[in-house]
Amino acid sequence: MANSSLLAAARSARLRELITALPLTRGVVDRFVAGDDLAAALDAVRELRDHGLRVTLDHLGEDTLDRSQAEATRDAYLRLFGALADRGLAAGAEASVKLSALGQALPGDGEAVALENALAVAAAADRHGMTITLDMEDHTTVDSTLGVLGKVRAEFPATGVAIQAMLRRTEGDLRDLVHDGSRVRLVKGAYAEPASAAYQAKADVDRAYVRALRLLMDGDGYPMVASHDPRMIAIAKALAVRAGRAPGDYEFQMLYGIRAGEQRRLAADGEAMRVYVPYGADWYGYFMRRLAERPANLAFFLRSFVSR
Ligand SMILES: Cc1cc2nc3c(=O)[nH]c(=O)nc-3n(C[C@H](O)[C@H](O)[C@H](O)COP(=O)(O)OP(=O)(O)OC[C@H]3O[C@@H](n4cnc5c(N)ncnc54)[C@H](O)[C@@H]3O)c2cc1C
Repeated sequence: MANSSLLAAARSARLRELITALPLTRGVVDRFVAGDDLAAALDAVRELRDHGLRVTLDHLGEDTLDRSQAEATRDAYLRLFGALADRGLAAGAEASVKLSALGQALPGDGEAVALENALAVAAAADRHGMTITLDMEDHTTVDSTLGVLGKVRAEFPATGVAIQAMLRRTEGDLRDLVHDGSRVRLVKGAYAEPASAAYQAKADVDRAYVRALRLLMDGDGYPMVASHDPRMIAIAKALAVRAGRAPGDYEFQMLYGIRAGEQRRLAADGEAMRVYVPYGADWYGYFMRRLAERPANLAFFLRSFVSR
């Protein structure tokens, strides 16, 4: 579905060095990333809240193989929560957390390190009246992420998880996840996956998304419908009505900078709408996935060089 060369580039250290060094890249990145630092993230949160939007914050970073870097990411989340609380912005806010940024990929005891860090982040969020949701990364990490989720939920039951409709295993996973209080963010999936693990055609992914929506809306958990696709949003609303759910018994989610007008319109219509706000200097992988999702984004990026 997405451009597979761009998704491969998202994991290339050489291209990362090249692209992040280009001064012109910055202007395009700003469309998708709130800023390099905490202050920029807080400005974005305030503006979104002023428009009636909820937030989930992602301190950018992924795939770390360095234990101290994983701890630095954990500490960045703790600083974020403190800063939100100081400004009266913490209640109802959420943080999105990538386990690979908390050490999941460290050789040997990576999963245990990620669990320890995730528990520290979830505990700090809880102290401030916030929740966390675990992002889902490529399909090789799903078992480990669901394992960590179970352990974090044992102490912090409101912990959410992202589930990717494109994965063939997803309907089975959802059947275990649609219990009372279970917060599940349904996404289409942003990683390059083999045909053995994931649907490849957009139409198949969309059909899988609708099947998953049905399971979530008919289940007892809290569905978080994370998509910019107008068809998925319309279907989610219809399924919610059929299941007797009112706005707020589920929520919509979109990414910072994508269909911002629609985000405000849904909120103004009374829907619960949460915006995923990424911030931090390590924006490369996130940015490349956004380029891969939409050819027009790549064209915009390339034009910014030509038109100079
Ligand atoms: C809140 C949130 C959290 C997410 N977390 C994860 C996660 O943990 N793991 C994961 O694998 N994926 C995650 N994703 C990404 C997701 O998997 C998709 O790659 C992404 O949302 C695009 O799919 P779509 O549902 O919007 O539908 P698409 O069919 O891809 O897009 C529908 C329409 O939305 C608009 N659009 C979509 N993407 C872009 C873009 N990049 N730039 C501009 N316009 C765009 C276009 O108008 C497009 O026609 C997340 C997405 C959201 C919204």
